Amino acid sequence: MTNENQIWKMAKKCLAKRLPDFSQVSLDLWFGTLELKVLTDTHAYFEIENEFKQKIIEKKYKEDIKASLAEVIGFEVEVVAIAIDKDTFDNGLAKYLEAKELEKEQEKNDTFDPLQMYRRMDNSYLEREIKSSDEIKPQGQVQVSSSLPDYLPEYTFENFVVGSSNKMAYTAARTVAQSPADPGMNPLFIYGDPGLGKTHLLYAITREVTSRFPDYNILYVKGEDFTNELIEALAMKAPVQFREKYRKADMLLVDDIQFIAGKNSVQEEFFHTFDALYEAGKQIVLSSDRPPREMKTLEQRLVSRFEMGPIHDIQSPDLELRVAIFKRKAKSMGINVPNDVLMYLGNNITENIRQIEGALKKLRAISYIQGDDINIDHAKEVVLNLKTRDAQTVTPEKILSYVSRKYNIPPEDITSAKRSKDITNARHIAIYLIRKMMDMSLIEIGKFFNRDHTTIMSSIGNVEEKIKKTAGFEDSLTEMSRDIKSGSFEF
Ligand code: ADP
Ligand code: MG
Repeated sequence: MTNENQIWKMAKKCLAKRLPDFSQVSLDLWFGTLELKVLTDTHAYFEIENEFKQKIIEKKYKEDIKASLAEVIGFEVEVVAIAIDKDTFDNGLAKYLEAKELEKEQEKNDTFDPLQMYRRMDNSYLEREIKSSDEIKPQGQVQVSSSLPDYLPEYTFENFVVGSSNKMAYTAARTVAQSPADPGMNPLFIYGDPGLGKTHLLYAITREVTSRFPDYNILYVKGEDFTNELIEALAMKAPVQFREKYRKADMLLVDDIQFIAGKNSVQEEFFHTFDALYEAGKQIVLSSDRPPREMKTLEQRLVSRFEMGPIHDIQSPDLELRVAIFKRKAKSMGINVPNDVLMYLGNNITENIRQIEGALKKLRAISYIQGDDINIDHAKEVVLNLKTRDAQTVTPEKILSYVSRKYNIPPEDITSAKRSKDITNARHIAIYLIRKMMDMSLIEIGKFFNRDHTTIMSSIGNVEEKIKKTAGFEDSLTEMSRDIKSGSFEF
């Protein structure tokens, strides 16, 4: 069996789990003849027998295939299906690549839609959004969806490895799951950097409570979804249903509550939801990337509500915990990782736990592709790969290009001497982000923008001033740097 075959075979198992409504017959029908021919670190090229199936796959199942492959190999690749009814696979692939090249050329000339990017920028978008959708949407029922996906069964307390950095948060979560709404434990607030296990703990609570108290109406929602649902409810003039949904919960968990900060009508609504539930003696659990007090644009009355119960942070894992997690994850992934490799990984992959999972998947993929047992050389390759990718992620050019796209202003204008309001604003933001994200001196940044360092300083001052004055602005900047770091703007 080729490595591609092997990988695809495993991915198909994940795919079946993602598509629980599919019978074996329909799984075979759609994916049985799909063959993974070429896997690179950016693309998976599949062969499929005809164009009809290819279209269906591209349209309906691409994301599921992508996610299933990622579960096996540890990173996402673009999924391309090539139909062979008119051609051979190799010819088809060549044509596809040519067409892509052409598209890229054309894209360069295309303008980009800034509205999309502005959507989540500040609180004024909320009003705008409501207004514009008011005009087009008919009145009606709000569609509410439960946002707890059930394909993450591994997010349980049993699978949560406990160490000194997360022990308090873990214990508090367990306590709440065992006896919800104990007045001393309400609300429970857990905060910490991304990838350290907040969502895992919130899921674990919902699971445990569901099994202990099957009649409980548990609501888990991401701060972002809460916001979007509310906007939609208001636009459809159906805030009543929205309120009912949230206020009849027996337990409410809001993951990444920081998203509501700075968005006035959302905070207002959440405040009332919180009070209604709290007064009715219902458990509330919140997670955030920072403690309530540090959410600068969170209304004071919410801060004090959030501080009524225990607040626990999750810190970065220490070496011991990292190695323990590596061990546990390797075991659950069914791969055999020798101790020296575990130690090497523990010593070198230190940032967050999401990285640990990614590293193990990559390790497994490399050992498949090279066809031997996992060893220290594989581990070195994985670490090197992660490090170079991290190091490559942020450059001043990338920040400039991000800001350029976000504000729809050509990079040349941003670095030029032009002084129109929009251009100056974009320039200030680009300078500020470069200063925050890069290890560059004011003089170096000055060179990049053809300016002296005092001008750079005043740009930074300008943005700092705006942060103080404008609610939500700091959060948008944080979001921008996150986008830049994750490279997610390179669409
Ligand atoms: P956050 O919500 O804080 O960004 P997640 O809960 O999504 O982080 O965690 C990221 C990944 O790391 C998940 O796959 C999660 O299962 C895993 N993880 C985090 N902490 C632990 C832990 N202590 N033990 C096992 N897995 C963990
Ligand atoms: Mg999370």
